[in-house]
Amino acid sequence: MKSRVYIISAENLNSAIETIFNQFYKEPLKNKRIFVKPNMLRAAQPEDCITTDPKLVEAVVDYLLEKSALVTVGDNPIPQRVNEIETAKLCGFYEASKGYFKNVGRFIKKLKIKHRLIKELYVSRDIIDSEMLISLPKFKTHALTFLSVAIKNQFGIIPGGLKLKLHYQCPTLDDFCNLLIEIYNLKKPGLIIVDALNVVDARGRRYRLKKLIAGTDGWAVDYVCALIAGLKPELSPLLRIGLKKNLFDPKEIEIIGELSPIKGFAIPFTIPFKDFLAGIGSRMFAQIQSLWVPAFELNLCNRCNSCENVCPTRAIKYYKIDYKRCIKCYCCFEVCPKNAVKRKIKIV
Ligand code: SF4
Ligand code: SF4
Repeated sequence: MKSRVYIISAENLNSAIETIFNQFYKEPLKNKRIFVKPNMLRAAQPEDCITTDPKLVEAVVDYLLEKSALVTVGDNPIPQRVNEIETAKLCGFYEASKGYFKNVGRFIKKLKIKHRLIKELYVSRDIIDSEMLISLPKFKTHALTFLSVAIKNQFGIIPGGLKLKLHYQCPTLDDFCNLLIEIYNLKKPGLIIVDALNVVDARGRRYRLKKLIAGTDGWAVDYVCALIAGLKPELSPLLRIGLKKNLFDPKEIEIIGELSPIKGFAIPFTIPFKDFLAGIGSRMFAQIQSLWVPAFELNLCNRCNSCENVCPTRAIKYYKIDYKRCIKCYCCFEVCPKNAVKRKIKIV
């Protein structure tokens, strides 16, 4: 059966969402545990165009609530000065979620994967255990993978700081892309709705597309997004690997709606040398990040033990961290009610 991908105008967002659900999901939604995952990379304003537009999150949540689904909204941002809830407020997701936003970095579980370098991963339990995942990626460029859409949005099921560690553990672009594929396979979305309302290219030029791209197959959605970005699919590192491994077949993708490539849309790098530099830059960034560790400020601590209870590796005992056991997931940072867990540089 062909993978259908819809390109739909979102001038009327609510009616576009209704059309998408009618096309892709006809089963009853009542009492279904649905996890809605926007891209909440970091605290950013909607106009920065690096996180999903909260208007899309709100329209999807409204639709699901109207159908009596059991909704949870969340994502794992990279570790920052502010915690996940503050990040959600700054991105506009907290309000858009109508009280259903959850800090999913707090509850994690370990799963095995088949990867050359990484054999197991910690993931957010709420996302993995949901009955259906609705992915709301932002249509945007990415220094390593050129485009970050459906497959890349799944990286957010990994709790905060662990993402940086995984970058470091996967030194080549192929290893990193293969890891993204493994993560995508851990929990494939039941529905993907790409936010292409307002997009920004690698040169910072803005485009008001007012479009949504929807489908149920992340490969088909990413393929169509590459065509819209004017990127030859075989030049995309992820799509190239997907094609090589026969994970999708372009001939089996049915595009419904008007496919018009964005004129002059700049992707980050298009020549191998620059790709190579992008890889080095990313690894240096990850290496610098790896020097950061969680550390307690005990004068702020109220001894609630939440950090000790949440720590997946039992690295915290009596308000001390055993850095040999710490996997830098920053669950302790996320859970602390007193802001007593900080990120500090530790040179070993
Ligand atoms: S101390 Fe535990 S909870 Fe905190 S970052 Fe390390 S492993 Fe994660
Ligand atoms: S979670 Fe925060 S306040 Fe509670 S014990 Fe840990 S550091 Fe202290």
